Amino acid sequence: YAKRQGRNNYQMYNAQIEGLSKTDLHMETLLHKALDKQEFVLYYQPQYDAATLEVSGIEALLRWNSKDLGMVSPADFIPLAEETGMIVPIGEWVIREACSQNKEWQRQGLPPVPVSVNLSLRQFYQTDLVEKVGLILKETKLDPKYLELEITETIAMQPDIAIHVLNELKAIGVLIAMDDFGTGYSSLNYLRRFPIDHLKIDKAFVQGIQQDEEDRSIIATIIALGHNLNMPVIAEGVETEEQANLLKSYKCDMFQGYLYSRPLPAEMIPAKFK
Ligand code: C2E
Ligand code: MG
Ligand code: MG
Ligand code: MG
Repeated sequence: YAKRQGRNNYQMYNAQIEGLSKTDLHMETLLHKALDKQEFVLYYQPQYDAATLEVSGIEALLRWNSKDLGMVSPADFIPLAEETGMIVPIGEWVIREACSQNKEWQRQGLPPVPVSVNLSLRQFYQTDLVEKVGLILKETKLDPKYLELEITETIAMQPDIAIHVLNELKAIGVLIAMDDFGTGYSSLNYLRRFPIDHLKIDKAFVQGIQQDEEDRSIIATIIALGHNLNMPVIAEGVETEEQANLLKSYKCDMFQGYLYSRPLPAEMIPAKFK
């Protein structure tokens, strides 16, 4: 298995593949062809400034419109794409597509905001990631400050490499968001050393904010932590006005969720700026 990772990798996955089931193998065959068949599409979900409710960013979310399987959710194919390494070419397509779409919106005269792209762990640890991101920005002519890369706490399992890669990404001018914060391998020591621009509170905490006092105190703590480390905080999965009001009372900076907008096809995004 290690061989399949190719040379451009820091060789950190050892205990990953446990054996794929038959349906996984069928999906794997289809997934291999999906890029060539142009079956991937990006949906876009706006993020809003909590104070003004203006769009302050847009997250790109991958969809697989498979001719054989129908619409497959990322939760159902990203783990497989990670295990097989296919996430690397797929993820590169996602970055290029999101950058070129963001440039296109800017050409249409929309107020410029960053587009956020989710990076898988596997992608993050490709040794040519920074070079590829730089090339894509040149190719699409997108100003690097309008690309944000979303990573998760799991990168802290290899903290020295992670800090190195993050610093290189910051040096080319892109933004970094820590996604799903609070659910993973948290180390406050690393969080302090990582150059992070935004902290995203996982939707699991947001969903419990009304009923669950513990979720409320976790949220209040994450927001205070973000502010103490100079990181604006985004809440994801905001579905109700009550959740938004509570988050506002804790000084949450940005909102993302169905209350404001579902993930949408690119052509529906301009209307969100009016
Ligand atoms: P994520 O990055 O944490 O993205 C947020 C997820 O929450 C998205 O699910 C989004 O559609 C969903 N969501 C947004 N607002 C709400 C809400 O108000 N309520 C609820 N219940 N859900 C909401 P989605 O699109 O199914 O993506 C799931 C995960 O798949 C993402 O979680 C991300 O980890 C991964 N993913 C998506 N696109 C990519 C990609 O291009 N590359 C990689 N590596 N991972 C991706
Ligand atoms: Mg995300
Ligand atoms: Mg998230
Ligand atoms: Mg996630």
